[in-house]
Amino acid sequence: MASQEIETLASALARLPGLGPRSARRVVLWLVKRRETALLQLLGALEQVRDRLVECRTCGNVDTQDPCGICADPRRDRTSICVVEDVADLWALDRAKLFTGRYHVLGGKLSAMDGVRPEDLNIGSLLERVAAKDDGAGIEEVVLAMNATLEGQTTAHYLAERLEEYPLRITQLAHGLPVGGELDYLDEGTLAQALRARRPMG
Ligand SMILES: [Zn+2]
Repeated sequence: MASQEIETLASALARLPGLGPRSARRVVLWLVKRRETALLQLLGALEQVRDRLVECRTCGNVDTQDPCGICADPRRDRTSICVVEDVADLWALDRAKLFTGRYHVLGGKLSAMDGVRPEDLNIGSLLERVAAKDDGAGIEEVVLAMNATLEGQTTAHYLAERLEEYPLRITQLAHGLPVGGELDYLDEGTLAQALRARRPMG
């Protein structure tokens, strides 16, 4: 029988994406054996995340500053916004270093099955950015970089409709993306290719 402490930690870990109860218990045991090294490091890193990370109020990125490093960077093209489902997608695209504009994180995707409606996503703030011309620099292009899943594409089409009234070029990633593929899992070459070959939405 495991102690209460181990059970408490294991059940907290089991709620993490990708970790089930079995692997959570294995992680706990692994950490207990490394109290002074890995466990200490993890504690420190968790504290840093709790104390220092904030959500960017402009784009939804997670960073140590608000506005985030990308929004605050004067070298980035202020006329284009790339819309992604999640922060992990933003990071994946930004690692590929091909998109020079800024981002907007929806915080999910439309899903009838999971009951995610447009008002549950950061769509209002996207429309505000586009309408307010985002600090005076007119937005000329919105790249819809949704995942190549049914829900991702539904979301992209919904957004394209909402954006229709603005004088914008609306593009989406070319789907050399594998069907069902999620951006975060793609290698940088595939991502770069998809971004380069982006095409008008419609
Ligand atoms: Zn930002």
